Amino acid sequence: MSTENRILVTGGAGFIGSHLVDRLIEKGNRVTVFDNLSSGKIEFVKNHLENPDFTLIKGDLLDQEAIEKACKDIDLVCHVAANPDVRLGASDTRVHLDQNILATYNILEAMRKNNTKKIAFTSTSTVYGDASIMPTPEEYGPLIPISLYGASKLACEAFITSYSHTFDMQAWIFRFANIVGPRSRHGITVDFIKKLRRNSNLLEILGDGKQEKSYLHVSECVDAILFLIKNSEKYVNIFNIGSEDTISATEIGKAVMEEMGLSDVEFIYTGGSRGWKGDVPKMRLGIENMKSLGWKPVYTSERSVRETVRALLEEELVE
Ligand code: NAD
Repeated sequence: MSTENRILVTGGAGFIGSHLVDRLIEKGNRVTVFDNLSSGKIEFVKNHLENPDFTLIKGDLLDQEAIEKACKDIDLVCHVAANPDVRLGASDTRVHLDQNILATYNILEAMRKNNTKKIAFTSTSTVYGDASIMPTPEEYGPLIPISLYGASKLACEAFITSYSHTFDMQAWIFRFANIVGPRSRHGITVDFIKKLRRNSNLLEILGDGKQEKSYLHVSECVDAILFLIKNSEKYVNIFNIGSEDTISATEIGKAVMEEMGLSDVEFIYTGGSRGWKGDVPKMRLGIENMKSLGWKPVYTSERSVRETVRALLEEELVE
């Protein structure tokens, strides 16, 4: 990405969004963050608050007028904001419809009205559902999500591709594996640290512990995003972003335990091949498309997880 782009990052005060903002500012872009601070934190962007190239707007994507105003004179929207809690859909069937689908529709409308032409979107491996091919390539189909979260993200992708076609926009859709790293506040690594802080003798693992997924460090994820935006130029560009291997839930338990300096921990399992309804037992994404353009991850899933545990312990992750 060249310098002097005016970029709007929705959800830029969240985990992945704030790392993206750090990198965009470092590269000389002018960045506006639009975030309702529901899970995002001002402290994640505090280093930029005095920077004239940085603006923080506290606003909600469900407020159409506010997002329309924020989109004025923007070259690229990085739409990162969402409710990312996959499990939540089983108890609250409305949240992903509002926070993901309607929020995405509102940003697309704001772009259309402001003549903003480029959007990058943070999608997810959950759009593939229980994929029968592993590693799962972008071309895999039919896409049959098994969580309301996955369904909402697939709907967002469909709105983005159809807006791109209808209104001559250009889109980058990134389907992430599990992203981990400093500032993360949800997911298995965070859960295990919290559980072991409460009781350092016992770790409850959802499912049978054999669930096996790909994990990528957030620094590599952000690298990949910027590389792919710079090096792909179709009107719709869809890429998986993940590591080349997997790690199981039990192995993550062991890594967290070791990084916390614990040795005598009993693992207990809630049973079944899925951690919860909507969880997939296995996930590994095909990243040949990204590799053919010249970018590939260096970290293994285990290294990403271990570095994350160390960083979160240093951050003194609050309960
Ligand atoms: P996060 O919760 O840390 O970030 C989401 C941000 O969006 C927060 O800052 C929150 O305050 C903001 N936000 C939420 N609803 C909003 C609204 N209505 N208006 C304005 N701001 C709002 O989550 P994250 O893990 O950083 O996830 C970022 C994106 O990446 C999400 O789109 C998520 O679905 C996607 N993703 C994440 C992972 C992962 O492993 N973390 C995997 C796949 C996809």
